[in-house]
Amino acid sequence: MAESMLGLKRSHRCTEVTTADAGKEVTVMGWVQKSRNKGGIIFVDLRDRSGLLQIIFEESECGAESFSKAERLRSEFVVAITGVVESRAGGVNENLATGAIEVRARDLRILSESETPPFPIEENSKTKEELRLKYRYLDLRRPDIQKNMMIRSQVATLARAFLAEEGFLEIETPTMIKSTPEGARDYLVPSRVHPGSFYALPQSPQLYKQLLMCSGYDRYFQLARCYRDEDLRADRQPEFTQIDMELSFVDVDDVLNVNERLLKKIFKEICNCDLPLPIERLTWREAMDRFGSDKPDMRFGMELNDVSELVKDTEFVVFKGALEMGGSVRAINAEGQGAMPRKKIDALVEYAKGFGAKGLAYLAINEDGTYKCSFSKFMTEEELHILAEALGGKPGDLLLFAADKDKVVFDVLGNLRLELARQLDLLKKNEFKFLWVTEFPLLEYSEEQGRYTAMHHPFTMPMDEDWAMIDTNPGAVRAKAYDIVLNGTEIGGGSVRIHQGDIQSKMLEILGFSKEQAQEQFGFLLDAFKFGVPPHAGLAYGLDRVIMLIVGADSIRDVIAFPKVKDASCLMSEAPAPVDSKQLEELRIGISKDSE
Ligand code: ASP
Repeated sequence: MAESMLGLKRSHRCTEVTTADAGKEVTVMGWVQKSRNKGGIIFVDLRDRSGLLQIIFEESECGAESFSKAERLRSEFVVAITGVVESRAGGVNENLATGAIEVRARDLRILSESETPPFPIEENSKTKEELRLKYRYLDLRRPDIQKNMMIRSQVATLARAFLAEEGFLEIETPTMIKSTPEGARDYLVPSRVHPGSFYALPQSPQLYKQLLMCSGYDRYFQLARCYRDEDLRADRQPEFTQIDMELSFVDVDDVLNVNERLLKKIFKEICNCDLPLPIERLTWREAMDRFGSDKPDMRFGMELNDVSELVKDTEFVVFKGALEMGGSVRAINAEGQGAMPRKKIDALVEYAKGFGAKGLAYLAINEDGTYKCSFSKFMTEEELHILAEALGGKPGDLLLFAADKDKVVFDVLGNLRLELARQLDLLKKNEFKFLWVTEFPLLEYSEEQGRYTAMHHPFTMPMDEDWAMIDTNPGAVRAKAYDIVLNGTEIGGGSVRIHQGDIQSKMLEILGFSKEQAQEQFGFLLDAFKFGVPPHAGLAYGLDRVIMLIVGADSIRDVIAFPKVKDASCLMSEAPAPVDSKQLEELRIGISKDSE
């Protein structure tokens, strides 16, 4: 039977009890981790969110009633225990924060009992994730997930405090808004009052934060919940949290500066890691050329080199063909991998094919300086020597070449670089390497839609010096857009916004919006801009990803209290679920037969 805690007050969390409390009476409350009855003496490990504390029951100390209750204790019972703190008789348990003490119980109340849980509540659970997520409220009791939740809370608190100190106002924007087809798919909410009309859940507070700048709030932030109905990948969730901000009367540098200081503070306080400022900056062009990626992992080198010029006269069809179609030949040097067995090289070739490569050429430099090369038939020893030299190749190195259209070459070598780093164990989880990538292209051509789309979003400001090319060479126009990258993951991004009506109209025209469509979708923003708009810029972090990197979690689900799985469902609540026909009638919604 469950007892009440009437008259009792918790005095400490489990690990708040220390040797300094020896001799004192404490009252602790929590869950029974484990209970061992050694006849005459019962050991209980009590757990709360702070950790574990050992409690000892002996009938002579706690009395017959409490002792007989203690005999009934099972894992996950919720109890209140009052007792006296003592140094451990049996020696210190180094594995436990409270390993030097124990509490000798005087009184026990069983506040609630527990059925046998479907899996043990312990760190590094081997339990299948589906089962953990079905019983997420139990999974959330596990110390490793609790640690993630606590760090998440600390990061949010730090960000709030820092931004408030810097003069940012926390303002909530609506989560029932108008749908805008640009970007990812919206989640829709039907309106009962306006049958046939829908709200959308925001993909980001973008338009609203820009409006706030129009309204004079000059520095805004929000921990904003955002929704995107995309095909899910392992590191995506349909709903996620952004640390979202917008600033007026600023340019790129101002946004980067304040964010560098924010990151420095978070990483110092949470990870005790000193982040040297300024954070390295690469333009998008440079990031692609040197790392084949717009979010390069800077924890290791292995940079790409363009060797097109050196092989331009070769008869090797793979190189020749790539150059003839306007592509390039680029290579990376996997240092010290010259003796890689053929089988392993073949596996790398297969890996490269997964990113669109037709193959991968290689040149291994043997320890004696001779070469083992997949295209040696087409090159003289001297030519191989020049290539090796250009790539900094030394005896014992392995040079890997991709030849194709630039886009494919970057994708292949950018990913191959990462794969090699994984194989060579170069990616340390506790090393944090930040990078700004700036000057992204304004537009990207979509083959599928047969037109340009915005690389960031339609409100991103082009670089002043490139705007003149907007009609003649739109693909070459760079934007005042930036991403913040941590260990090869984009953790945030933003841009300076267009605040001039003529540039905005032109941009929307290029993106294929008619005047009417633009007015219909973002009319309220375009109108607002007619009434005095300050230059402004902003940025948003994906909070979930930041936490994931900080705690070294393998899955984004481990840093979200109640996450969804790959098909966007919640295994615990079983959302989404069909609704009552009456609810549908009220909304005047019918479900077509073929979807049932
Ligand atoms: N709204 C943008 C995003 O969600 C961020 C920004 O431009 O501030 O990616």
